[in-house]
Amino acid sequence: MQNEGLSELEVWIDQDLCTGDGICVQYAPEVFELDIDGLAYVKSADDELLQDKGATTPVPLTLLNDVRDSAKECPGECIHVRRVSDKVEVHGPDAE
Ligand code: SF4
Repeated sequence: MQNEGLSELEVWIDQDLCTGDGICVQYAPEVFELDIDGLAYVKSADDELLQDKGATTPVPLTLLNDVRDSAKECPGECIHVRRVSDKVEVHGPDAE
């Protein structure tokens, strides 16, 4: 199935606010992982942990619901999902 009509999304985490509870990892382990510093980071499409603060990674369409739920449930309110094209946040604390 094609993803026509759906914008490409990317996700990033504000580690300064992350509580390290790991809820995002439970929802979407393909996208999020806790590092040894106890904070959550996003992973690249080839499963590599992106340890730069605020790094972004594409949201696979198949994982959109899980990533969206993560952003909704994140106690630190620090998961940001935005459109790649114009960087507008669509899920997360800065979404409308
Ligand atoms: S759900 Fe939010 S606060 Fe919890 S580990 Fe993930 S990013 Fe951090």
